[in-house]
Amino acid sequence: MTHEHKPDWSRRTLAAQALGHIDEPSRAVVPPIHVATTFIRDPDNQYRSGNIYGRPDNLTVREAEAIIATLEGAAGAMLLGSGMSAATAVFLSLAPGDHVVVPEVMYWGLRNWLINDATAWGLRVELVDTCDLDALRAAMRPGETKLVWLETPSNPMWSITDIAAAAAIAHAAGARLAVDSTCATPLLTRPLELGADIVMHSATKYLNGHSDVIAGALATAAEDAFWARIRRTRGMLGQILAPLEAFMLIRGMRTLHLRVQAACANAMELALRLSNHQAIAHVLYPGLPGHPGHEIAKRQMQGGFGGMLSIRLRGGEAAAIAAAGRVALWKRATSLGGVESLIEHRGSIEGAGSPCPLDLLRLSAGIEDVEDLYRDLTAALAGSA
Ligand SMILES: *Cc1c(COP(=O)(O)O)cnc(C)c1O
Repeated sequence: MTHEHKPDWSRRTLAAQALGHIDEPSRAVVPPIHVATTFIRDPDNQYRSGNIYGRPDNLTVREAEAIIATLEGAAGAMLLGSGMSAATAVFLSLAPGDHVVVPEVMYWGLRNWLINDATAWGLRVELVDTCDLDALRAAMRPGETKLVWLETPSNPMWSITDIAAAAAIAHAAGARLAVDSTCATPLLTRPLELGADIVMHSATKYLNGHSDVIAGALATAAEDAFWARIRRTRGMLGQILAPLEAFMLIRGMRTLHLRVQAACANAMELALRLSNHQAIAHVLYPGLPGHPGHEIAKRQMQGGFGGMLSIRLRGGEAAAIAAAGRVALWKRATSLGGVESLIEHRGSIEGAGSPCPLDLLRLSAGIEDVEDLYRDLTAALAGSA
């Protein structure tokens, strides 16, 4: 591959052209999918190509990683088989006995794993409201706390944590800061520039954007010993993303900017209109001036407040489930960050122990015409007014 780009090209330009890489043998503008699992050793027993075996590394995966590192302003990036494998690889690269501080409100799958599995493995997991910086500071145990994990905006309430302030608190106690930035996307927020050490994405969501790839990404501020340990975990456990998925992810990321801008505009418009709806008690969206995290979001999110919002229905759980049952255009499905708009009753997924209110519907705004989205949603809500 040749890198035919100038360093001053914007991230949007670099993503659109997949860094401008050209496949040298063919001069193709699209990278090939490297599927080989093994590579020829040189006659003198060396591996000068740098390619040995497919479990620790893959050329197509490396192409996608270079794009993510560029988008995040990172020293390096790593792709794994899912967002969960990316997140858990970070925690499993700590040592049993280490203390970690994680948010009360976060992606339910990781919250569940941290409470049930990470603790069984030996991590001491402490859940705090990371939006409350005094609570975060009080949770730190200098010398024992090795990692602070944030998610902002966080599932499914879209609360906002001040990344720069949390980084200062974590670092003062000798801990690293990692941020699940799935819903912010590298377009809106770049946590490494705000002091975070590691950024994680479920690339299944906005990065790929088409609901057809499961993938996870990590990006790092420094290629240090901790990063090397995560790479070792990925290689040993065989958690690397498969080459076809990496290729599809490269294709998806070419339109990241267009998709995220469209989703943000739709989410903002829907949040404003739904705020006045008689069936809705609360609209949770960081773009609304009344949202408790709005001022921080204005500082740490550029160009929009994300494509995710939630609504809480006056009629409670039954009304929420019934309204979701009446949509036609919105798709009643889990996940987020695709081009199609999704609606979900989160309580049904998260189950007992979740902080998610049962009257809540989570909305992932896609890129469709906002008038169609609004009409479909208000028709579905009409029955619960
Ligand atoms: C979906 C999601 C994950 C998990 O990612 P998978 O790719 O489904 O494993 C983690 N964090 C957030 C915020 C998510 O939305």
